[in-house]
Amino acid sequence: MKIFYCKEFAIDSELETVSKSRVIARFLQEGRVPGVELVAPAPVTHDELLRIHDPDYIQSVLSGSIGRLAAGPWSPELLDSILFSTGAMRDAVLEALRSGKAGCLSSGQHHAKRNRGFALCTINGIALAALVALEHVRTVGILDLDAHFGGGTFAILGANPNVHLADVSVSDLDDWIPSEPRRHHRAEVTDASRYLAAVRRALKRMEPVDFLIYYAGMDPHESAGGIEGITALMLAKRDRMVAKWCAEKKVPVIFAPAGGYTDPLSLEEVAELHLDTVRAFME
Ligand SMILES: [Zn+2]
Repeated sequence: MKIFYCKEFAIDSELETVSKSRVIARFLQEGRVPGVELVAPAPVTHDELLRIHDPDYIQSVLSGSIGRLAAGPWSPELLDSILFSTGAMRDAVLEALRSGKAGCLSSGQHHAKRNRGFALCTINGIALAALVALEHVRTVGILDLDAHFGGGTFAILGANPNVHLADVSVSDLDDWIPSEPRRHHRAEVTDASRYLAAVRRALKRMEPVDFLIYYAGMDPHESAGGIEGITALMLAKRDRMVAKWCAEKKVPVIFAPAGGYTDPLSLEEVAELHLDTVRAFME
């Protein structure tokens, strides 16, 4: 199984969003999940960025005139991180269309709106991935299991009749209001014992799709940004449920590590949680 990553993804930063991919990649290079091949992506192009964001916003991000990006002060390194990790979403889609599944170590996507970044997310690579997939299939599902809602993805793609959104959150950050009941599903879970059932219901809503984009947050975890009672074991079960669903339905899938935060956990422990997503899709 191919997972898209290159050294430009990660920069020296206190923010896990732009630093943890290096640790996940190191674990994969050490062979912690046998059968995975890390592949360098091509960066996102200007034309691709204009498919998902406003030209003025993109100009200010590319030139640096914006001053500050959602994931920190503008720098050539941070810009490269965003351009390569967004391009990786496109490359992962193309690989999954060929082989059935692929991963991408890109975080920090689902809050980005058309005309601005928000909450650590500068560019919405999920939206790009969906549009790329729609060049090849009829309907795309986005299963967002980050601890927070993906209001950016909804803002960009909610009106697209070929995109189905299912979003299970444990926080009300970046919440959105479904406008198309058939294609839009959002659920907020406040009781850990109801989390897996909520995920199962969300997966059920993905039944009509021909391609799945799975945004796999580890921040629902009780020590990684989420709520008490959501454990590593539950999240491993969750990811196996999603992977099994894709395999049984023969739906091509890409996955990307969404949120997952340190303190009390170390960056290594957060990366270890994300490895479980990779393991689930290798099985
Ligand atoms: Zn989050």
